[in-house]
Parts: sequence; C-alpha cells; structure tokens
Amino acid sequence: MQSRHILHVDMDAFFASIEQRDNPDLRGKPVVVGGLPETRGVVAAASYEARRYGIKSAMPMATAVRLCTGLIIVSSHHGRYRSVSSQLMAIFSDYTPLVEPVSLDEAYLDVTGCTHLFGTLKDIAKKIQNRIAGELQLTASVGVGPNKLVAKLASDYRKPEGLTVISPQEVESFLANMPVEKVWGIGPRTCSELQKIGVTTVGKLQGISLDFLMQRFGKHGKVLYELSRGLDERPVITEQKAKTMGKEITFPKDIRDVPRVKNTLWELAEAVCHRMRKKGLVCASVTLKLKYADLSLITRTVTLPRPTALTVLVREAVLSLLKANWNGYPFVRLVGISCGKLMECGNVSPSLFPDEAMDKEEKITRVTDNLKEKFGEQVVTSAALLKEK
Ligand SMILES: [Mg+2]
Repeated sequence: MQSRHILHVDMDAFFASIEQRDNPDLRGKPVVVGGLPETRGVVAAASYEARRYGIKSAMPMATAVRLCTGLIIVSSHHGRYRSVSSQLMAIFSDYTPLVEPVSLDEAYLDVTGCTHLFGTLKDIAKKIQNRIAGELQLTASVGVGPNKLVAKLASDYRKPEGLTVISPQEVESFLANMPVEKVWGIGPRTCSELQKIGVTTVGKLQGISLDFLMQRFGKHGKVLYELSRGLDERPVITEQKAKTMGKEITFPKDIRDVPRVKNTLWELAEAVCHRMRKKGLVCASVTLKLKYADLSLITRTVTLPRPTALTVLVREAVLSLLKANWNGYPFVRLVGISCGKLMECGNVSPSLFPDEAMDKEEKITRVTDNLKEKFGEQVVTSAALLKEK
C-alpha cells in the first residue's frame, strides 16, 4: 500500500474567533457564542480566553456564566460562519482536489500527489495557515500524518495555531501517550472495558497481543490492535460525493424528556435510512442537530466505522452524539438527523470480517422494507416505539 499524506485542518475557536475578528471590543476577552442563560441557552463556541475558565461548547450558559464573571455572550451569526467556511474550503481546494469537509471549520485534505507542487508537507501546512491568517484573519491548527486518524490527533496536539507533522516512523510513539478515549473508533464502552484491564493509554494497548484482544473483544479486537498502531485506511471523501439526506422535527412544546427525544431520533433514523435504502445509498457519516429552547443550534457529526443504511447503526451513532451533547439537560425545541457522505451501496467494499448480527439485521430490514412497500410506511414499526405511542 502506497503511503498517503493527509492534513487535518481545524480552525481555532471558529465561531468565537469570527466574532472577535469582526468586533474589536471582543478581542482578548472571554467570549462565548450562544443563547442567554435566562432562556436556558447553551454555549455553541467559546474563545480561548473563556476556555481558561473551564467553559466548553454544549455547556449550559448558566454554568458558563457562573464559571466566569464578565463573560461576554454573543448571539450566533450562522450565515456569516457559513460564508467564512466557504472561503476556507476554497483555500483548501487550491492545494488539492481531495478535500473532505467534516464541519464548517474542519476538513481533511489528501495531499499525497501534491508535494512536488508545494514543497514539503510542513511547507504546505504552513502555506495554508498563512493564507488563513492573511485572507481570513483567523487561525487554524494543522495536523499532518499518514492517515486521517493520525492527522486528526496531530491537529489537536497543539492548539491554537499548532502545526504537528507525524511521519509514519513516529506514529507509534506519538500515539503511545494518548489516552485511549482520544482515538477515533474507540468508543466510551470499549474505553471502560479497556480500563478494567488497566489500559488507559494507547501505549498500554500497543503492549497487548492480538490474540488476547481478539479473545476479549472479538473481531473488534483486531480493530483495536490496528488503531493502537495508527493504522487507518479510511479514504478522504470529497465534497462532490458529500450529499446528505436528513429529516428534522420541531416539537409543539419545548421538551427535556430524554426518552421522548431518543424515540423521536429513532423514528427520524428509520425514516432517513428507509429513504437511503430505497435509493440504494449508504452513508458514511451521521449528524445530530439540536435546537435548544433559546434557538441556539448545535450540530455534531460522527464518521461511521463503515458506510451503512441500517437504522440500528445510524440510531446508535446519533444516540451516542446525543449522550455526549445532552449535557445539563436543557430544553429542546427541535431535533434532526442528517446522513452524510452518501454513496451507492454497490461502491462499498465488502467488510473484511463477517458479522452475523448485522447480516441478520440486514435480512430483517429487507423484509420490513418489503412490507412497507406493500402496505405503507406505518405498517411496520419497532415494538419499543409502539409501546411509546
Ligand atoms: Mg475547531
């Protein structure tokens, strides 16, 4: 396998930095973007000055205000962030056609074929950072590595304005000190399983034999073995292919009833997945959209281990996003799901490992889809959802 060169560019405190850029009064001060505490708002983004007080995104605004007296709250200007984001993506596309936007302020770039045009990997990263600083008056952190997994960890390694280049030879030692929960593909459940056997860092995971991991974690053991060594074959998927399909619901009254939110997301997942299956598509990423009572909006995206149109897998992904972002139990006005990076299911290479449970799930799904085709959408529903109704 030919080695690849991947950049991960991540803007520093994107929304908050744009606000500070556009309003000099906000510079050097603790600023958050989001809704007011009186309206049970949440933090959509925090400036580095605010982060020093322990303020993080998705935190209830009431908590943020308690942590930092004199905190400046700015309401979100989503249209402006979106237009800065397209300027940003345009800069990336000057260096490679292989750009995969992850969110408004983050993207993977595959520059494997581009080093002869723009110099070393470090040169390319520096050029991009300089253009962002010059043209957008904003800062970005860049990570460079042989794949997405390493590039992403590298961009996060030094922030803000970081530039970290990890060569293939350095990958294992770079990962060794990372806590396992930082690694893409090692979820919270696996983390706590690993903790039980005393594995908290990737270095410790590297010390465990493949046999033992397979015994303990089944086929996921092999994935853990590979991730701990920084092996990740996921391709950079470009914008062109990055079509999305989604659905959202506004509740008649703001709610904070977690089971109801979960069931709603389940229904949305089924509706979107059914649409994908009808068109012969699968998705490689899932986005959760939450609009809180104060109208502030967060979107969180996760990349799936492999592309799918199975409701169970999309639902699992969106519920883990909900769990990570439902903090402080704010009231919610709207929830939505969007399945991204759609591709024809024929273009997905078959899984390396057979998975009986998923094969079964696929068969059941085919049967229920046929029933829906014959008798209408409402004819089949999950037993758990039925109980709810
Ligand atoms: Mg960022």
